[in-house]
Amino acid sequence: MRRLRRCKIIATIGPASAKEETLKTLHRAGADVFRINMSHASHDSMREQVRMIRAVQADSGRPIGVLLDLQGPKLRIGLFKDRAVRLELGAIFTLDSNPEPGDETRVCLPHPEILRALAPGHTLLVDDGKVRLYVVEADATRAVARVEVAGEISNRKGVSLPDTEIPVSPMTEKDRADLEAGLETGVDWVAVSFVQRPDDVAEVKKLARGRALVMSKIEKPQAIARLDEIVEISDGLMVARGDLGVEMPLEKVPGLQKRISRVARRLGKPVVVATQMLESMINSPVPTRAEVSDVATAVFEGADAVMLSAESAAGHYPVEAVGTMNRIAEEVERDAYFRGIINAQRAAPEATGADAVAVAARNVAETLDAKAIVAWTASGATALRIARERPSAPILALTPFPETACRLAVAWGVHAIITRDANDIDDMTRRAAKFAFREGFAFVGDRIVTVAGVPFGTPGATNMVRIDFINETAAQAAGAHCATLEVAQ
Ligand code: PEP
Repeated sequence: MRRLRRCKIIATIGPASAKEETLKTLHRAGADVFRINMSHASHDSMREQVRMIRAVQADSGRPIGVLLDLQGPKLRIGLFKDRAVRLELGAIFTLDSNPEPGDETRVCLPHPEILRALAPGHTLLVDDGKVRLYVVEADATRAVARVEVAGEISNRKGVSLPDTEIPVSPMTEKDRADLEAGLETGVDWVAVSFVQRPDDVAEVKKLARGRALVMSKIEKPQAIARLDEIVEISDGLMVARGDLGVEMPLEKVPGLQKRISRVARRLGKPVVVATQMLESMINSPVPTRAEVSDVATAVFEGADAVMLSAESAAGHYPVEAVGTMNRIAEEVERDAYFRGIINAQRAAPEATGADAVAVAARNVAETLDAKAIVAWTASGATALRIARERPSAPILALTPFPETACRLAVAWGVHAIITRDANDIDDMTRRAAKFAFREGFAFVGDRIVTVAGVPFGTPGATNMVRIDFINETAAQAAGAHCATLEVAQ
């Protein structure tokens, strides 16, 4: 199965989709990666979802990415005597460490470290910003605030703190347990919520020990302030527009989306645009025109992937939502403006052998109208450096490691195949041609460009670009079909 687009699609699993048959249909409709949201999944349901995804993968013969999204430190207020209270504009309201149920004047904020970090001038946003409080006085056990946006608040509503650097790791005890369970189950990517500092990402990478790649969700102003450093240390990024639009003025989100996408692309890290992309499709089989335009904007920007949340997890039309994203991405990538926009955002290569080879491969492929760039890759890094170039030719990543193939499911334009490593240059070119033909990228007489590192099997040794024709021998070799997910010969 070959996709006719470069931008990938991530579908979140939930009650609307957590069945093997539905996952199969979603994969056929265009889902390249499935996201398991640990805010809603138990360890058992997560394991069952991964099992079903792997069954769909075995059935389709295509690697599928699994993204485990950790909940992160969701801060919540305590309880009220009467479940809810209405806070009037200008009223004074206190958040404190007293566990007694609250009223119109106060409520418990059961996070002592947050009370210590709050200072006069900070804003507290309750229930996704529906109520806004401005801190006028603070000490280690309480923060006295003035109501700036009035409204009702009720038991255990979430609190966001856009101005307050929270002096704790974004990994709660639950996140640590979820991470370990996910890694044992064999997820490919882990998304970290509420990242504030590069150290937050370093901590998760240390825990993951290379067993999965780490994606930083950018959803806090503190992360925006240190964006370059966070992108540098992360394996991938998510523009988490839901919380980003709570913690920052909504009108800033489109510009931030562009900024995050560009920094990620400059550094060659996959970037995912997420949240409310086709929100109306939760209840409707067709999206709004504005939603179509929003997905299209992300694709025009060269996002590696666009993501569905409630649309595929809890909506009435999960398959239609994936199909709609698929059609939008295909159409945008055929658009006359697409190539010009993608090329205009290309950043200068870094001074490494891998980047020099990636640029050369793109240039050769474009000059000769080659039908594919075939990259032999162990870790996936070579394929990602080529993807950073956003070439017009599709990228075939040949790897001996199933986990590399599944991780690359999120990367722009990459079609991964699991095959044993090449023995020598002849084997490398022969099998590159065979797979390009077999997967429907190139036909007899077409040219392909092959990228590899010699000696074979040496990590980080990308140093070779070759031009080859697809000949009858490649076509005949491809005729001897072998299952992609088994190690193909
Ligand atoms: C977001 O906030 O946009 C997001 C993707 O995170 P979550 O769905 O976990 O709120």
